[in-house]
Amino acid sequence: MKMFLNMEMQKKKRIALVAHDKKKQDLIEWARYNSGNLSEHKIYATGTTGMLLEKELNLQTNKLKSGPLGGDQQIGAMISENKIDILIFFWDPLEPQPHDPDVKALLRIAVVWNIPIACNRASADFIFSSHLMKEEYERIVPNYSEYLKRNL
Ligand code: PGA
Repeated sequence: MKMFLNMEMQKKKRIALVAHDKKKQDLIEWARYNSGNLSEHKIYATGTTGMLLEKELNLQTNKLKSGPLGGDQQIGAMISENKIDILIFFWDPLEPQPHDPDVKALLRIAVVWNIPIACNRASADFIFSSHLMKEEYERIVPNYSEYLKRNL
């Protein structure tokens, strides 16, 4: 039994962008700086974040629902279906969020499927400056089939 499985990541990555309200400006500035690089990939975003990226930067995004209305859960579902390769999620450590359980669930599912996650600008810079952004990549994912066969 293999301990890990490989998931193919293409050169063109499917990137999810999410920012809490007081972090939106931060994300816009980061995205402005990286707009050339971002435009080479397929971008998904929660509703309001996506709307601002389009308005401020003219960046084409696939907009999901607003985070508190289910957008975080939509992104989580896409990660579990291998439809998102990278998560850039500027969550706010200083403000309570009405959808806190969804925030936690999104971060959790990103770890379950071993996708790169950046929760602040420095981490996002390190991910985006990696040569792997321009290459195919075999992402290893734990083989969960033993988990599915557990005794109940
Ligand atoms: P928003 O959602 O982009 O619709 O504001 C972000 C979030 O709070 O998850």
